[in-house]
Amino acid sequence: MKILVINAGSSSLKYQLIDMDGEKMLAKGLCGRIGIDGGYFDHKTADGYHTHYDVQMKDHTAAFAEVKKALTEGEGKVIDSFDEVTAIGHRIVQGGAIFDKSVLVDEKVIADIESLIPLAPLHNAAHVQGIRAAIETFGKDVPEVVVFDTSFHATMPPKAYLWGLPYEYYEKYAVRRYGFHGTSHRFVSKRCAELLGKPDAKGTKIITCHIGNGSSLAAIKDGKVIDTTMGLTPLDGFMMGSRSGAVDPSAITFIMEKEGLSPAEMDEILNKKSGMLGISGVSSDDRDVTKAMTEGHEMAKLAWDMREYQILKYIGGFVTALGGVDAIVFTAGIGENQIQLRKEIMENLAYMGMTLNEENNNTRGQEIEISGADSAVRAFVIPTNEELVIARDTKAIVEAL
Ligand code: ADP
Repeated sequence: MKILVINAGSSSLKYQLIDMDGEKMLAKGLCGRIGIDGGYFDHKTADGYHTHYDVQMKDHTAAFAEVKKALTEGEGKVIDSFDEVTAIGHRIVQGGAIFDKSVLVDEKVIADIESLIPLAPLHNAAHVQGIRAAIETFGKDVPEVVVFDTSFHATMPPKAYLWGLPYEYYEKYAVRRYGFHGTSHRFVSKRCAELLGKPDAKGTKIITCHIGNGSSLAAIKDGKVIDTTMGLTPLDGFMMGSRSGAVDPSAITFIMEKEGLSPAEMDEILNKKSGMLGISGVSSDDRDVTKAMTEGHEMAKLAWDMREYQILKYIGGFVTALGGVDAIVFTAGIGENQIQLRKEIMENLAYMGMTLNEENNNTRGQEIEISGADSAVRAFVIPTNEELVIARDTKAIVEAL
């Protein structure tokens, strides 16, 4: 069974074709700048073929036509025709309080995703465009499944997902913590439970640290999320590449008043100009900030220290929320590759009996236990694979039809 995984943005479309017999990625790529000038297309196969060229795509349907060409024709071909695609799995950012699991797409599901557009204006509107374009391309007979970033966090209790605001805003506008990166937290926590010898996750207390451009932590008890750092949008929590993370709310209104900023302008600053970039002034990319820090850049060092301190505070809070912790997992671009950050975090957790296996920690991008044999809390690096989670959910739903 071959499944096409789609992540549709407002002007982009990422795809990955996965052969579920052996769970092997066959090809993946990106349609960039859809509907705007400077469009491009990038396609890679598992065999190492890579092509990148400029092409204008007027909408997501045109993008699918480009994907079809790349997958079925020429040197980058991995299938003979789109008929070989059994089902399509879409990544959806915001499932709100409606979706607590992945579901098969029908008109009601599309309408429900549209109803959540106010909670994720850029993302959900684009996802609906992606779903409609896929239906247009593949026809109604090819099943489509939607997998939500939020749904793994649906088990959070109200005491964790509500803020101390007038309750009417929750009732009127569904303002609450939803949490994101759910597919990643689900994938790595499940794998961690297996590594702990408890595949059903019963009796386990795990903290998963998804640290990439966007970052979040989740506290997971018995396989269920009890708290997470991201909120109504993927902005809450600790400092990220260019996102601020948590800030005293009145600092925001204060700056808006002083600078005469509109909500949209402030939103742009909080999402695009803050975090590691905003403090260091160097870059939002961790590699650039780390390089600057090692060369003696003081603001890069401050940004690094702030992020680490904030992560440690959340870990401490989540240990209390869980009533202890069996294991901590590091994943995503930074979590899988940033040896120094992992080392410093673990050394700061010595108070809870954490020890480091320095040799194992000196590796990148591979599954490995990085705590010492004598450690009271275990720690792992587990590479995430959100596309595979989407493909697995899609397969399970299609097989149950
Ligand atoms: P997202 O999916 O949120 O865009 P990723 O999980 O891909 O982000 O993480 C991107 C971040 O990971 C970047 O800041 C980048 O610097 C960092 N990163 C990626 N690869 C490496 C590496 N080999 N060493 C250190 N950092 C890395």
